[in-house]
Amino acid sequence: MQLPERRDPRSLPPDSDTPRESPRTATRGVHAGRDDFAELCVHAPPLDLSTTYPVHGVDAACRSLDAQAAGGPPVDGEPIYARLHNPTVARFEQALAEMESAREAVAYASGMAAVTASLLAARLVAGRTTGGHVVGVRPLYGGTDHLLESGLLGLDVTWATADRVGEALREDTVLVIAETPANPTLQLVNIAKIVRQAEARSSGPVPVVVDSTFATPILQRPLEHGATLSLHSATKFLGGHGDVMGGVVATSDPEWAAALRQVRVATGAVLHPMAAYLLHRGLPTLAARVETAQKSAEILARRLAEHPAVASVRFPGFAECDPEGVVGRQMSGPGCLVTFDVEGGLEAASRVVENLRWITPAVSLGSTDTLIQHPAAMTHRVVSEAAKEALGIGESMLRLSVGLEDVEDLWEDLDHSLRAATAEVETVELACA
Ligand SMILES: *Cc1c(COP(=O)(O)O)cnc(C)c1O
Repeated sequence: MQLPERRDPRSLPPDSDTPRESPRTATRGVHAGRDDFAELCVHAPPLDLSTTYPVHGVDAACRSLDAQAAGGPPVDGEPIYARLHNPTVARFEQALAEMESAREAVAYASGMAAVTASLLAARLVAGRTTGGHVVGVRPLYGGTDHLLESGLLGLDVTWATADRVGEALREDTVLVIAETPANPTLQLVNIAKIVRQAEARSSGPVPVVVDSTFATPILQRPLEHGATLSLHSATKFLGGHGDVMGGVVATSDPEWAAALRQVRVATGAVLHPMAAYLLHRGLPTLAARVETAQKSAEILARRLAEHPAVASVRFPGFAECDPEGVVGRQMSGPGCLVTFDVEGGLEAASRVVENLRWITPAVSLGSTDTLIQHPAAMTHRVVSEAAKEALGIGESMLRLSVGLEDVEDLWEDLDHSLRAATAEVETVELACA
């Protein structure tokens, strides 16, 4: 049989039938960071585990070292040392940047390392070496809240709600930090509204970082709404299989990208190349994972809302949880997390977690398996009691990160456990009465 001659797609005329220059996010996830595969004659990314590299003369090495210490790329193909640059990490960064509609991305050893680097880089970009002020929009991830409250980084912090950011800004404010959907209440923040306030400061605009971990670049790309930085704990959905830790910050501002790399070189919070390889491998399936889990999350949220043992449900897909219409405008879907309050307080909530069969009682999120955790006792333990109370993070709250199991198995598991837990609590109450 005669096979038709293969045409080089690059030789096709640029007419209306040619694919668009900029593919959609799911397509970027599959192909980004893989442009040179044909040239390299590979189908999986090469993994470079070198800690050091042979140099081609002291002069060239010096030039490359200076450039990298200032946050630039290696010069003349002289990578020098793995804390400065690693090609496998750079590949993942390029891929994630493309998915975020950003020009660059900088990856770190964990989400918290990425948060720390963003705070330190903000000071550098503002031209300071010490001090500085940050506006935090609560609620934030427990670790981020704790880092800011601890004063460890020597930054002054003002907490504000999303619509009072403008009033909290000062002359020395170097960064506004927000998270959406926020952990664990799934509160939605209108990014453009925060950016407008931050830009209106009389002495000049303040950069805004959005922790977009819960949304992933599939559902939300903060730079498209004016944020300077989009941050992820890559440990969650990007890796997606619960076996890799990392963090990443995407930006289109070259000064910020250089500052973020400079901080990484100086503090050493680098992403391991093996972790970068796994994170890059997670990106092609990200859209499929998020879309499947999101469908199940929607079903579970609706059924939980009708369950007699459930007091209330927070889910971005419910109109009452999205007064500003963020879903559909800023976020293309409600996401894969559901937070709910159980009738019967801490005791009932603990029993629900203990009685499950398929759902894993564990912190973290965005894994293939469904995870459940108790925010007040676990992820937000480090947040002050007053802040927890103000944010409505109570003792009967549970946070569910929906995975890829069949939704009917998940529902049977939840329903059974909720019934058993409330029945047990009632029995105990009766026995005590
Ligand atoms: C987990 C998480 C972090 C911290 O990331 P690590 O990888 O655990 O350091 C930051 N922000 C959010 C929203 C998170 O869920």
